[in-house]
Amino acid sequence: MSIFAGTEFYQAPQCDRCGLAETDCDCPPPEVKRTFVEPAKQTARIGKEKRKKGKVVTVIRGLSAQDNPFPDLLKRLKNECGAGGCTDEDTIEIQGDHRPRVKATLQKIGYKTKVI
Ligand SMILES: [Zn+2]
Repeated sequence: MSIFAGTEFYQAPQCDRCGLAETDCDCPPPEVKRTFVEPAKQTARIGKEKRKKGKVVTVIRGLSAQDNPFPDLLKRLKNECGAGGCTDEDTIEIQGDHRPRVKATLQKIGYKTKVI
């Protein structure tokens, strides 16, 4: 057995938050802090567009994925409209013409809306 065993010559890396060695640390992984813009400060422009094969979609523009919790919004809109949908950087699409429902849902959340 080494004479250094059990001495403090070796220090394990420590967790910044709890001060324990990283191997003993039970802290949850750091949360990615995201700040969203208040819905009341944004205007969603709700339009209808045609896609391939004459499919109609409701398109929401004027909001960005950076300023808004797009996955939550999409989920809520899909539920309210009973339709499929998708998002990209700055648009949300719901399959079918659901402009009145989309407008009502976004207003309930607090967004200003404009139907085009
Ligand atoms: Zn910790």
